[in-house]
Amino acid sequence: MALAGALAVAEAIALATRPRGRLLAAPPVRAEDHFSAEEIARARRFVRPQLAIGLAGMALEGVVLASLVRRPPAPPAGLARRSLAAGAATGAALSLTLTVAGLPLAALARRRSLDAGLATQSWGGWAGDVAKSTALGTAFAGAGSALALELMRRLPRGWWIPGSGLAVAGGAVLLLAGPVLLDPLFNRFTPLPAGPARDDVLELARRAGVRVRQVYVVDASRRTTAANAYVTGLGPTKRVVLFDTLLNSFSPEETRLVVAHELAHVHYRDVPQALLHMAVTAPLCALAVARLTRRLTPAGEAGQAGEAEPEVLPGLALAVGLVATPVSLIYNARSRAVEARADAFALELTNDPAPFISFERRIALQNLADPDPPAWVARLLATHPTTVERIGIARAYEAGERWSDAGPAMGSVADFGAVGSGGERGSDGAAAASAAGAASAADGATHPPPG
Ligand SMILES: [Zn+2]
Repeated sequence: MALAGALAVAEAIALATRPRGRLLAAPPVRAEDHFSAEEIARARRFVRPQLAIGLAGMALEGVVLASLVRRPPAPPAGLARRSLAAGAATGAALSLTLTVAGLPLAALARRRSLDAGLATQSWGGWAGDVAKSTALGTAFAGAGSALALELMRRLPRGWWIPGSGLAVAGGAVLLLAGPVLLDPLFNRFTPLPAGPARDDVLELARRAGVRVRQVYVVDASRRTTAANAYVTGLGPTKRVVLFDTLLNSFSPEETRLVVAHELAHVHYRDVPQALLHMAVTAPLCALAVARLTRRLTPAGEAGQAGEAEPEVLPGLALAVGLVATPVSLIYNARSRAVEARADAFALELTNDPAPFISFERRIALQNLADPDPPAWVARLLATHPTTVERIGIARAYEAGERWSDAGPAMGSVADFGAVGSGGERGSDGAAAASAAGAASAADGATHPPPG
């Protein structure tokens, strides 16, 4: 019941705050009109197994958690059961277990990325990334677990109320601090140097009526040949980040379009709006998590005050996954509308639909994105319109359609193609780091983002 309520509220808020005004009425575009049969087949040969690997990874996590719910491991000997340390150690061990269980699938996805020419990093470098992100994940899980158990002890009935507040506050802190504290652990960020690209950004920003103090180039090429761009951060850490692979392989006209798209997210305040959306939906989601946790781990089984024992943590983690997965589908639908608006905004700002279409074609090829994925992928999992839909938006603009603009909405971060698709996401530095920050606010990031 609480889960149904949480979904209803998330959906209602998504509907109430999605972009108002009329999105460009895009004519249907066929992938075959812009891509050869071989190009489409090549992308699908790569993307579809990656998606299957990503979904298998999610299923595996569910199975591991379910088995731990049935037989919860005892907290480490030598620690008082109800101490903060016992909770932290159990939560950290749980997180580590899930990461290790998923490693074979992550390695398989990466092997396929290497074979496809998308991944560029050595296995040693990849292992270093995995070690760093695992260390971070384990530390966060330990701290979160200790905090959650302490709340359960103090407020056995209503722990979910401060719990949801702290989760949102944690998301805000990650969004604020991630770009300056976490992202640099995985990549080097350098301010966009003076030159035509920087002049373009400043000129577009002036015309878009947004203030962008920080535009960075990230050395994505150390890991991937894929190109992308994103907006992240909050307040003083707000920034536009361009992949070096984008600047190195696309024309200035095409890069301008990407910049204009990112400026749309700044203009509409899509990142803080995403955080706000999460904040509004969080309390009911947390109530659903609390109810599910109690059902999965009935009090008494793990001692009289079962909910506050470390043995409750696998049930809590499984409940979070069971609530976050359907809620993320609602966030995705809204993200697609926000992204379509950013495309329309970029077209109006640049008034240049031809390079928009050539860009969509080229980046789909470069990132090995399926230009026209199956409907269930496009309608459930995708955070962006598909390549053919985006080309359709440009065709509509060419035909004289205009976006009628009104009202705010929200958005997500990484913007083009299949970067970090499937199980590879966790190993893609920029994607992993922004997933820790902005993406977690934008779409929960519990599923692989297909292009
Ligand atoms: Zn975008």
